[in-house]
Amino acid sequence: MGSHLISLAIFFAPLALAADATADRLQAIFARLLAAASDISPRLVEKGHPAFGPAPTLQLASRVGQVNYLAWAVPGAILMTRGILELHTDDEMAFLLGHELGHVYQYHAGTPEKPRYILAPENLEHDADAWGFLLSVKAGYDAYAAGAFLGKQAFALGQASLAHQQWLETHDTTGHRSFNTRLTELLILAHRACRETESLPARLLDLDCAARRDARTPNLSGLPL
Ligand SMILES: [Zn+2]
Repeated sequence: MGSHLISLAIFFAPLALAADATADRLQAIFARLLAAASDISPRLVEKGHPAFGPAPTLQLASRVGQVNYLAWAVPGAILMTRGILELHTDDEMAFLLGHELGHVYQYHAGTPEKPRYILAPENLEHDADAWGFLLSVKAGYDAYAAGAFLGKQAFALGQASLAHQQWLETHDTTGHRSFNTRLTELLILAHRACRETESLPARLLDLDCAARRDARTPNLSGLPL
């Protein structure tokens, strides 16, 4: 989500992750994603891309008087409000955290002013979505949770939602707003990760989709792709 919201960090008060159930839940998901990133990183290097940088810190943050439904990344850190954790399952949170890790990687591979996109060169958010998908699936989370996450966002941030105005104010790119487009991009990515064995997504994921027909793995056999 808030990839280029560095200035917003000024208005948010980062809080250290206290020892509570919410923080523990978040850290457990984050640890699995970092392990997946450490597995994917050398594969990136093999394909001529920069390795992932040092693992970012993860912080809970609050914004007084505003809807607590935000997550964003700055170089070296991911910040998240508690509200977003209440709405989403662990699988969905894994996609979101992976998305934010993707932004951190973009900053590492490029600069905050000129991030580098690897998986979706045309769009910052679609590239971050691709990282969210690959990292969460690599970590063993539900491959379809990206759809659930974006679907819930579209529902929660609809025109009737109190969060809608804040969403428009803080996310000014069509990449953020176009839920259906993001889902389409992710479906294409899943296809490449499963079917195009020489593609970068397939190389990074190394997932035998034909052999794995469990509910948590992309099963695209019936789709007209
Ligand atoms: Zn983003």
